[in-house]
Amino acid sequence: MTFQDMPKVELHLHLEGAAPSKFIAGLAQEKNIDISKIFDAKGDYAYDGFDEFLSTYEAACEPLKTPQDFYRLTMAVLEETAKHGVVYAETFVSPDFCGGGDVGAWREYLDAMTRASVDAERDFGITLRGIVTAIRHFGPEQAKTAARCAAETKGDFVVGFGMAGAEMVGRPKDYAYSFDMAREAGLPLTCHAGEWDGPDMVADTIRDLGVSRIGHGINAVQDPKLLAEIAEKGIVLEVCPGSNVVLGAVPDWQSHPIVKLRDAGVPITVSTDDPPFFHTTMTYEYDMLAKTFGWGAEDFAVLNQTGLKAAYCDDATRAMIAKKLEAAQ
Ligand SMILES: [Zn+2]
Repeated sequence: MTFQDMPKVELHLHLEGAAPSKFIAGLAQEKNIDISKIFDAKGDYAYDGFDEFLSTYEAACEPLKTPQDFYRLTMAVLEETAKHGVVYAETFVSPDFCGGGDVGAWREYLDAMTRASVDAERDFGITLRGIVTAIRHFGPEQAKTAARCAAETKGDFVVGFGMAGAEMVGRPKDYAYSFDMAREAGLPLTCHAGEWDGPDMVADTIRDLGVSRIGHGINAVQDPKLLAEIAEKGIVLEVCPGSNVVLGAVPDWQSHPIVKLRDAGVPITVSTDDPPFFHTTMTYEYDMLAKTFGWGAEDFAVLNQTGLKAAYCDDATRAMIAKKLEAAQ
């Protein structure tokens, strides 16, 4: 079995960030929106450095306007993700980009994405669940509207609440109200932290937001006491090595702390984050982990078991995915 065929669980995937460049180019053309400057000669996303990445990302989101656009986006993303053996994925979706935080509008987008997930499960054999995501740099007030949308629509598709966006904006406690609201609605929680900021941000996020998973969390490696706490509490890190290397959160694959995290007993998973922007796929992540650290089938099986255990889906879905993972062993 090749790394590509190996069945995988992927927990950290931004829906818009996973948009294939050809899909976005096609949608822009249909709508007469000129975003040709964000593509290189091969049609891939082109940018130089983190600031340009953000503006390219924003431009790529411009053609995505209607619920139907999000239906097509979800189908395009899942077709691509399934090609790399992913049998279960969770994706970050933000009401801020789907109806501007209005619960009624959000329901229409959600309905489109849910229909796409059902169709993609039938067509591509991949199961998708959504994590409603606040955008940190939009501020604590806006985060409450995202949390309200999450709480109101918890169900078959919406299984968690989280926060992405610029990590250096505000402190975790500023967003505690939103995380409390989602928790009270019965949603499990994740938050990006420790990708750019240090171990204190990870520690504060765990303490003030009560998350069961951390997006990235790699800088926790700088504090052995914190690592021991994460391991003891069983908080799962959604590690995205290829993203970290391309954006410069770590200098290169060799310096990535994933092995140190794992050796400290921290539960880790591997995901692609915004795959076409970082020129990665789950196959590429596995290839690079094998090449750089000598990881093999057994290591990847553990990653996927950790991912499945940490997934926010219901137990019937978890059992169905467990069978798919087992069948490959
Ligand atoms: Zn992310």
